Amino acid sequence: MTNNKRFQNYESLLETLRDLRTESDYQTVLQSVISVASELTMSEAASILKYDEADGYLHFIATPFFNRDAIQDIRVPLDESIAGWAYQNARNLVIQNVKDDQRFYSEIDQKGKFQTHSVLAVPLLIKGQPVGVFEAVNKTSRAHYNGEDALILETLASYVAVIVENMTLEKRAEQMQAATDQLEQMKKNFIAIASHELRTPLGLILGHSTFLREVIDEKYHEQLDIIIRNGGRLKEIVENLSNVENFQSGAARIRMAKFSFPNLVTKIADSFQGSAKEKKISLRLDIKDPDLSIEADAEKIEIAIANLIKNALSFTHEEGHIAVLVEKKTRYAKVTVIDDGIGIPSEDLSQIFDRFYQVESHLTRQHGGMGLGLSVAKVMIDLHGGKIWAESTPGKGSQFAFLLPLDRDQLVAAQQFFQA
Ligand code: ADP
Repeated sequence: MTNNKRFQNYESLLETLRDLRTESDYQTVLQSVISVASELTMSEAASILKYDEADGYLHFIATPFFNRDAIQDIRVPLDESIAGWAYQNARNLVIQNVKDDQRFYSEIDQKGKFQTHSVLAVPLLIKGQPVGVFEAVNKTSRAHYNGEDALILETLASYVAVIVENMTLEKRAEQMQAATDQLEQMKKNFIAIASHELRTPLGLILGHSTFLREVIDEKYHEQLDIIIRNGGRLKEIVENLSNVENFQSGAARIRMAKFSFPNLVTKIADSFQGSAKEKKISLRLDIKDPDLSIEADAEKIEIAIANLIKNALSFTHEEGHIAVLVEKKTRYAKVTVIDDGIGIPSEDLSQIFDRFYQVESHLTRQHGGMGLGLSVAKVMIDLHGGKIWAESTPGKGSQFAFLLPLDRDQLVAAQQFFQA
């Protein structure tokens, strides 16, 4: 080859690589690469094969248009093919006359109605490891493949190897995503079925044991109280599960009505005074705006506030302090539940509102619960277009707060703002 011709070849090689950098569709890039390879090595055709871990064969990922339909589904074995040799040995292979070589895999010719004479096979390498093979076939005028051709194909091969690797990584990521989606769906189905199936028998157990307590001799009350209390606890868990599930499946609806916000918070806080007293914890209510009226779904807001206070009681030592602050902030009601309990490590803070998340392992911790209380609280506040968050210093205490739009109009505005 003359120096001039060689220079032209490199120039067009570089130009191709430059143009291809901006192309994002792999198939287009690979087709361009094989036509440039055929042209520059003066070959009748070129093709690219990728190794597939799933079946242990090489598969064509780019073939010349004239025999694409016939050969693109052929699986090329590693042991009886030229491409397989180049792949397994991670070395170039030049065969000037394939008929004399045992490694030639004739099925490709038969199916592709093509006659191979000579082959130049170059492995596609990523960090020295083969991922596929680049082949140029039939040097025109029965000439022999030379070092120059090998260099051209190697240059293109290093580029193609990166594409092939990206294809593999993308496929793997897609498979992992599909597996994760499937697991998430299974989890959702399980939650929906379990909470639905548990509710009816649980209702019967609670109903009948409450009835029994009314009519039975007093000496059995203690036992029945245990049944009723624990049945109630189970009911709470089932309700939490279905609350999260309903919201995530879009089945949750809010029923808005106007009510006095301080009255609601007072009622909830009062219902916890008994448990606070048992733990010698002071549970203090601080209402800054006694006339604060709000339009919301009281039942759902009650669940959120109750879960925050319940947690504060669970994670605060005996003789600790809890304060519940209620105030108006422009067009929002703000509730803050402050405790001087065990606190939350900063690395866990961003995840505590996730379903089933618990800071301590479920197996070692002393508190009950399924890691649902906060996710349910968040669901309830989100449904109202509000915002909930937590701050904490381990060993010193935690502070949970939420903002709730005061009415329907503000709810719409807030949804746009917080979800933007
Ligand atoms: P659970 O019902 O299991 O307590 P939650 O969703 O209510 O689940 O809370 C998730 C986790 O967040 C808890 O397991 C706990 O580790 C932590 N947490 C919640 N509230 C507090 C708090 N006031 N102080 C310390 N840790 C808390």
